Amino acid sequence: MIWDELESGLAELAADGLLRRRRVLDSPCAPECVVDGRAVVSFCSNDYLGFANHPELIAAAQAAAAQWGVGSGASHLVSGHLRPHEEAEQALADFVGFPAAITLSTGYMANLAIVPALVGRGDAVFADKLNHASLIDAVQLSRAESHRYLHGDVAGLAAMLAASTAKRKLILTDAVFSMDGDIAPLPQLYELAERHDARLVIDDAHGFGVLGDNGRGTLSHFDLPADPRVILMGTLGKAAGVAGAFVAADRRVVDWLVNKARAYIFTTAASPILATTVTRSVALIAAADDRRAHLQALVAQLRAGVAELRWNLLPSETAIQPLIIGDNHEALRVAGALFERGLWVPAIRPPTVAKGTARLRISLSAAHTEAQVAQLVDALRALA
Ligand code: PMP
Repeated sequence: MIWDELESGLAELAADGLLRRRRVLDSPCAPECVVDGRAVVSFCSNDYLGFANHPELIAAAQAAAAQWGVGSGASHLVSGHLRPHEEAEQALADFVGFPAAITLSTGYMANLAIVPALVGRGDAVFADKLNHASLIDAVQLSRAESHRYLHGDVAGLAAMLAASTAKRKLILTDAVFSMDGDIAPLPQLYELAERHDARLVIDDAHGFGVLGDNGRGTLSHFDLPADPRVILMGTLGKAAGVAGAFVAADRRVVDWLVNKARAYIFTTAASPILATTVTRSVALIAAADDRRAHLQALVAQLRAGVAELRWNLLPSETAIQPLIIGDNHEALRVAGALFERGLWVPAIRPPTVAKGTARLRISLSAAHTEAQVAQLVDALRALA
């Protein structure tokens, strides 16, 4: 029976240390959380500024539910585009310095919305090999010709662009790579986009709210312009602490997406609760320099603390700090031993990362304390 292969497939995953299971949290997303009945300190979430439980955002969500109800009831183009969505879009566009923006329910959907709407057969996409799965899937969906360059290989990309005769060219990159934590060479990518008349799509899921002037993101980090060459995607379930995503760009591009992006058109608009809460979150992000400074200090503390272990952190200056273990089973063992000590760090394994590079993906947040990071450092030293 062909479907019996599901069972043997699951058994195979288990034998390779690749079977995933979900853990149930019995507490809100915060560094101190309760999971599988145990109180632990979590280094798993992308709640980089500690906003997921911000009292002002909780109050904004409660007030929004009372004023706007809980559901939008329809897609944006039918009747689901409420005033809170319109206001969130304007707040996001203003904050990142683009003329216009749309919001979507998830970052995954935002990438599926952007790429197939902008390119198709006869066009070409140039993508970093370590881009997020949603960008990879978006390229497949678009049917454009796919060129993948080695991670951060600007010269390789330049050669691919020069050789291409495609009509429209799109360069796609994570701004901060989700499993490595490093920052893409955006100034060079922007320069290549200019030289080859390509557009540059930047997925700033992990930079928005964290990097740049007042948390405006990775473009700002590099002082790059928010101009028509760039299409910026940012997610709202990470530093913003809520859920969803936005695409900010030139007005023509945004109008085009509203008319053509299937992942935007054929889906119910997010709850007005989320839209209202996002608008408040943008204001909090802009005023959170203290939280960003604390986060940076924690990054420095962690890096100094584990500098001489037999496992190495990848060179990352962001909140994502991957400790490379290598073997899948050993990564699981170390994660399990940390969990026994009350520290929850995810073991990331293939196919999410390349074979032989299983890692502990340590995510830091402004909600962590120095004492919690010290506890993690001590535990890692003891286990190494
Ligand atoms: N892009 C990147 C780089 C990401 O890391 C993620 C989330 N893991 C996404 C997109 C998808 O965002 P969302 O979780 O909002 O679907």
